[in-house]
Amino acid sequence: MDFSKLTVASAAAAMAKGEFSSAELVSALLAAVDTRDGDLHAYLTFDRDGALAAAAEADRKRAAGDRSPLLGIPVAIKDLINVAGQPCTCASKILEGYVSSYDATVIAKLKAAGAVCAGRVNMDEFAMGSSTENSAFATTRNPHDLSRVPGGSSGGSAAAVAGGEALCALGTDTGGSIRQPASFCGIVGFKPTYGRVSRYGVTAFASSLDQVGPMTRDVTDAALLMNALAGPDEHDGTTALEPVPDFAKALEGASLKGLRIGLPKEYFVEGNDREVSLRVRAAIDACAAAGAEMVEVSLPHTEYAMAVYYIIAPAEASANLARFDGVRYGHRSARSEDVLSLYCRSRAEGFGQEVKRRIILGTYVLSSGYYDAYYGRAQKVRTLIRRDFKGAFEKVDVLLTPVAPTPAFKVGELQDPLSMYLNDLFTIPASLAGLPAASVPAGQTAGGLPVGVQFIGAPFRDADVLRAARAFEMVQGA
Ligand code: GLN
Repeated sequence: MDFSKLTVASAAAAMAKGEFSSAELVSALLAAVDTRDGDLHAYLTFDRDGALAAAAEADRKRAAGDRSPLLGIPVAIKDLINVAGQPCTCASKILEGYVSSYDATVIAKLKAAGAVCAGRVNMDEFAMGSSTENSAFATTRNPHDLSRVPGGSSGGSAAAVAGGEALCALGTDTGGSIRQPASFCGIVGFKPTYGRVSRYGVTAFASSLDQVGPMTRDVTDAALLMNALAGPDEHDGTTALEPVPDFAKALEGASLKGLRIGLPKEYFVEGNDREVSLRVRAAIDACAAAGAEMVEVSLPHTEYAMAVYYIIAPAEASANLARFDGVRYGHRSARSEDVLSLYCRSRAEGFGQEVKRRIILGTYVLSSGYYDAYYGRAQKVRTLIRRDFKGAFEKVDVLLTPVAPTPAFKVGELQDPLSMYLNDLFTIPASLAGLPAASVPAGQTAGGLPVGVQFIGAPFRDADVLRAARAFEMVQGA
């Protein structure tokens, strides 16, 4: 078995035919991690015994006739999603040593489908960042070029899948953290509609934006994972009651013929990396050649999206991260004299620089004197951004855009926070509008770095986005 070539679907088919067992699959995964992770640093921890025990259980169920597509499939889990009995650090010193006491709903669902959730992958601390360099524990490398970042914040998820150290992974996306690393590493990343997947048990960054989603080697696998993940959850009041389609079935007969694809003119501006522009242009031509109708559309408030995001996301983060106080769980300072200094010192010692920057910014924009000027205004502009998309989806089925302005950059290359923030220029608007969006591989630069394109859909048209992504994938020859 060549672990690095397998997909979820092909592994499931091989196991159903008895070509190998889940125990053998998991052993091959552990061997791949042993061989490669010294270079990639995708994983933070791995519950090996737990993985082998879950695989043996999956093999027993298969022998008893269970044919669930995820049975015995290992899934790498971003280290902010709680899995009972496993560490959950959010790549932060403040949660070092913390062990989860319960399963997040997405984990409970994966386990119910027979999946093996044992490997914990690296990320930017509390999902704040675009390179995984903000992790307190390790610098994950891009499998296509070890001197480069895998993107972020779900960089460990992307590197593990692209580097042959996982079949598939869960990531989270607040402003682009599934899609940008997927693009940097040449894999598929899907951010579902806001409310489509439960966040219960997923450490909150910015609650009006966060979504969990699959990161996979192809679109079919993303659909298979979505079938397990999607749906309402009584533990998460923000999940929608909207009926859940069969995402895998929706891919049948996927075609670009007659699909109306919108090209938002604000996304095709000067300043993008030349090679990214070339790849995206080639993708557009390929869609047109395959019979799609390409339509120019306008999303006039795009230019404000970044500013709006960097008010709303830090504001929500500052409130969400207030729970890390050295009292209830996580790091507790040994140098405190009273409750206030316990609180301040624990946070000062536990949080990294970027997290502190966001808390300060968020606290500022929420302070009574500035609330209306910043937070209130940002929410109004957010509504305008949402309306732009609504208007566009009256004319087209999906939108096609670049994922990020550049391919993967070098470790240490982006030192100032603003240039790092610019990575999410093209992913943030769909996050603010709560829309489903996928990053799909669209070839490589002359230097061999992957470039992705993004498909964005109307709310709860997740299946349409995956269908367009699958059709595009087929045109690319996959
Ligand atoms: N890079 C963006 C940020 O730092 C988005 C992160 C995310 O989607 N979690 O906030």
